[in-house]
Amino acid sequence: MDVQLNDGLGDAGHLRAAIDEADIVPLLLVLAHLSGDEAILDEAAPYIHGAWNFMHTVPPALQVGIRDRLAEVLRDYDSTGRALPATPPAHLLRKMLNVGVGQAVPEEYVPLLLEEMRLGEVDPRSVAWRARPPAEVLAGFRAVVIGAGLSGLCMAIKLREAGIPFTIIEKNPTVGGTWYENTYPGCGVDTPNHFFSYSFAPNHDWPEHFSKRNELWGYLERCADEYDIRRDITFDTEVTAARWDAARARWDVTVREADGATATLEANVLITAVGQLNRPSIPDIPGLKDFPGPVFHTGQWDHSQSVVGKRVAMIGTGASGMQAGPSIAPDVEHLTIFQRTPHWSVHNPNYHARVSAGKIWALKNIPFYAKWNRFLLFWASSDGLHASLQIDPDWPMPDRSLNATNQQFRDLLIAHITKELGERTDLLPKVVPDYPPYGKRMLRDNHWYRMLTRPNVDLVTERIDHIDPDAIVTRDGARHPAEMIVLATGFQAGRMLWPMQICGREGDTLRDRWGDDDPRAYLGITTPGFPNLFMLYGPNTNLGHGGSIIFHTECQVHYIMQALREMLEHDIASLECRQAPHDAYNARVDAAHRNMVWSHGGVGNWYKNARGRVIANSPWRLVDYWAFTRGFSSTDFVLGQPDR
Ligand code: NAP
Repeated sequence: MDVQLNDGLGDAGHLRAAIDEADIVPLLLVLAHLSGDEAILDEAAPYIHGAWNFMHTVPPALQVGIRDRLAEVLRDYDSTGRALPATPPAHLLRKMLNVGVGQAVPEEYVPLLLEEMRLGEVDPRSVAWRARPPAEVLAGFRAVVIGAGLSGLCMAIKLREAGIPFTIIEKNPTVGGTWYENTYPGCGVDTPNHFFSYSFAPNHDWPEHFSKRNELWGYLERCADEYDIRRDITFDTEVTAARWDAARARWDVTVREADGATATLEANVLITAVGQLNRPSIPDIPGLKDFPGPVFHTGQWDHSQSVVGKRVAMIGTGASGMQAGPSIAPDVEHLTIFQRTPHWSVHNPNYHARVSAGKIWALKNIPFYAKWNRFLLFWASSDGLHASLQIDPDWPMPDRSLNATNQQFRDLLIAHITKELGERTDLLPKVVPDYPPYGKRMLRDNHWYRMLTRPNVDLVTERIDHIDPDAIVTRDGARHPAEMIVLATGFQAGRMLWPMQICGREGDTLRDRWGDDDPRAYLGITTPGFPNLFMLYGPNTNLGHGGSIIFHTECQVHYIMQALREMLEHDIASLECRQAPHDAYNARVDAAHRNMVWSHGGVGNWYKNARGRVIANSPWRLVDYWAFTRGFSSTDFVLGQPDR
């Protein structure tokens, strides 16, 4: 890799400006990486207290020293043309990891982190052939992927890389899935963007640390083009059913085309990539159907209806409401928010910050800056909180918090809410949850509390009784005038893969086995009775403690690619997950969840089903799930040979 000091924004002046603007800790790590200087790490170590870029107190003079040294080192590499060191030697690497995040990084994370950073040119998550199958074998094989959102695209990119033919069936006219469909005002990501992007396709141009929907969708559109995936996608077509044909070891996949006609495709393997949060949940409130004004769900925002100057009612205060509410409040005449249960939300100083031009230059041009930055963001938002989400059976305040750390966090969150509400202390009892932090999805404060103090915003906590043509009426009899209703009421997460009818080896459907809300799968990916069916973002793979769903998707894709390699290299017609590993895995999932915050009796959330079983979330640390999916053991499967 060449140092490109004269590319991008231009000359050495730009380099200096970028070095002055970029974050000090990734710069420090780049300096150590390029110079091998351990002493500078020792000097900075006492001032680094965490992985976020606001968690250091490196003194200004030391910062100047680091920036000056780095400029010198880069000029030296540039003028001498010396090759850059790829991966630092082991002892230096360990020190860099530890100093960078202000704590000892356990050994088990090192290979994961190296993968995530992708320091070399080769993608360590690519599954290479051990013995490449003959071209005719590959040509005779077909995967059908359902959905061209971020997991379907990830799958397709890896299938393409391996030369495995595939077709994606996508119900929308273009790619992007959730990032295409959700267009509500304020829609954006709340995982840091430089980590919320494929590890193999970093984007250095994110305009914000937490970018908005158009940027996310644009990124996925670009990935579809850059990896030339679009030609293998059938758009405007929806999979309605799939049936396993055991004699031919094939899936017959029924699709409904744009004109309503149906057709059947054949697939050796069927890979679902439809997300957990795709089918809106519409509340059954008396009068809602007859409301004469516009009514729409956040996931299906009707942009033909202006909110400007209207009396708008918004039902629901989850992640979508948190972003939509503050975004429309300045424009509406009045916003009445109906809250059933308050959510916890955390402040992050980067949440509303744009990425400066200098930082973008650094990400693009300073060798390894983007990679070390990704490591820091990964660490900042991954497994750090996992241990604190375990229930301490001896904790004296089990209704409010889980343990001492969780209580400390609760106190911090309440301090933030109190500061934001200022004089409106009357709102405190309404907005402070009575359950432990993380019981529901932790939100990022999008100036929610400040919004609640606006004169044109009301927060109603009384339950809704019914809806009249001109008002929402609560159980206390109060009428809340409304001309337009926004349903920020979430999705039917428990009904995974619904409404598709997927019929397996024994003639029953997934719905028959799972019921309405009890999906189960081995590793969240594969389930007995349904050979050659692989799921992305399946049961128990949602992340509730941290991390990025893209990371989890990459783990699942890696596992599926290993399964396909096994099939194609060894002439295996079908792989069906055995009952025993499936049941043992799910027993472990359930046991792990029993001790975790989402099982807390005092809170409802979309993570668990009607019987309280957590069905959406993974109980595992990222490093655990990564380890589970890093290898593939065919002993977990019944192998079917081709019927010749
Ligand atoms: P959600 O978290 O399920 O929130 C739905 C809200 O609607 C809750 O406040 C719920 O109250 C309320 N509600 C549901 N039915 C109701 C009814 N009949 N009457 C009154 N209130 C009702 O849905 P979401 O906000 O769309 O978020 C879903 C998930 O999508 C998130 O957890 C997240 O994973 C993802 N998401 C992410 C982002 C992001 O990255 N920034 C943004 C949006 C969504 P209760 O709490 O009482 O049930």
